[in-house]
Amino acid sequence: MKGTRKLFVKSFGCQMNVYDSQRMTDTLAPEGYVETATAEDADLIILNTCHIREKAAEKVYSELGRMRRLKEEAAANDRRVLIAVAGCVAQAEGEEIVRRAPTVDVVVGSQNYHHLPGLIARAERDGHAVDTEFPVDDKFDHLAAPSRAMTRGRGVTAFVTVQEGCDKFCTFCVVPFTRGAETSRAVDKISAEVERLADAGVREVTLIGQNVNAYHGAGPDGRPWSLGRLLERIARIRGIERLRYTTSHPLDMAHDLIAAHRDLPALMPQLHLPVQSGSDRILAAMNRRHTRADYLDVISRLLESQPDMALTSDFIVGFPGETEDDFAATLRLVGEIGFSGAFSFKYSPRPGTRGAEMTDQVDEAVKSERLHRLQRAIDRQQAAFNRRCVGRTFDVLFERPGRHPGQIVGRSPYLQPVQVEAPSSLIGAIASVTITEVSSNSLFGALARQPALAAAGA
Ligand code: SAM
Ligand code: SF4
Repeated sequence: MKGTRKLFVKSFGCQMNVYDSQRMTDTLAPEGYVETATAEDADLIILNTCHIREKAAEKVYSELGRMRRLKEEAAANDRRVLIAVAGCVAQAEGEEIVRRAPTVDVVVGSQNYHHLPGLIARAERDGHAVDTEFPVDDKFDHLAAPSRAMTRGRGVTAFVTVQEGCDKFCTFCVVPFTRGAETSRAVDKISAEVERLADAGVREVTLIGQNVNAYHGAGPDGRPWSLGRLLERIARIRGIERLRYTTSHPLDMAHDLIAAHRDLPALMPQLHLPVQSGSDRILAAMNRRHTRADYLDVISRLLESQPDMALTSDFIVGFPGETEDDFAATLRLVGEIGFSGAFSFKYSPRPGTRGAEMTDQVDEAVKSERLHRLQRAIDRQQAAFNRRCVGRTFDVLFERPGRHPGQIVGRSPYLQPVQVEAPSSLIGAIASVTITEVSSNSLFGALARQPALAAAGA
């Protein structure tokens, strides 16, 4: 039996990293690693990093400064601490990380987490170990599947990665370089993982992928299944009451996926569909491979299928060559659709992408000013969407205790956090809530009636 060691994992960036961090923890458990909530008492620290924008990547180096000090303090007390950098910065920068931050013992790329136990042993022996190859084997086949015991207590909602990587090569984006080619997991493996989660008390599953709706994993019949078909299969798993998926690309909103929003009661009426820009000229320069009209057409077909939808998006302002007219087209698109929320970013040139080579980069001050205007427009729409919820009654899945005693927090079908005065025995249950008040990001409500079951699965 291996001695117990403490593991601290810090995730930066997207939900894919949150999921990967969990799987790394599961993979290291048989090696004797037990998760700890603080870096101070850890024997192994993993930073699971994000490279999507420059600021995200730079955060890692400032965090490494802090970790170096912890490592030195531990060494002064005769305790050896190992530091590993995983994720997209690791994939993009490889050996360079060890040169810039010699305190790092292990660098592991986004496709190699199943090699972690071997890499740690190598670093203990040789000083450091770096592995950023894109392997021919599938990491999902080798990473420890979360067992019932490991999964229990992780809450009532879970992410499940179904697709990874991207072949679209938008000219601003590093994902095709840091996550590699698009791959999908087989339907049976995903179903088995969701069954284990359901068994451990999970009620809501979000299927995730960089391009989740490009999903084409092998079905039990040996043929590629679409995301629509996968959702239909997962919806039949006992205990799973809610489904979501993210992030989608407008090009891959297939008919059966749009129809699933009408036909699957478990599929929540919410979609995150990044558009990036409302200008056809900029969409072409970004290599998004769709026009503004194509995007509006997808949204109108979706709303025909399911009129009650909360739509969110991602926007980039100040992409090279973006004029005031292009930006005005983005603001008009926002006005035409009416989002329930959105993420918006200043364009950040990323090494190796075509956008970074473009000569007509936009001034930082112009980017900041446009971002401010866009965010104000989106905030107004979000506030209006939330206000329209007041007086409505809908189902809330309760996830955890609230900030104040006697309060619990759940999510509406539209993914808004909802705070309710209710007993904590309702955590894990879905109950009908009437919305009484809203703040900028949250809804407040009262139980409409007592649910038949005190807790789902009870
Ligand atoms: N696959 C998704 C799609 O096709 O839209 C999104 C992937 S990316 C992880 C999440 C968001 O980050 C993008 O939608 C985009 O708005 C933003 N993003 C990506 N690269 C960026 C860059 N270089 N500068 C600013 N924002 C960026
Ligand atoms: Fe990046 Fe998404 Fe474009 Fe792929 S589709 S390159 S992940 S923004």
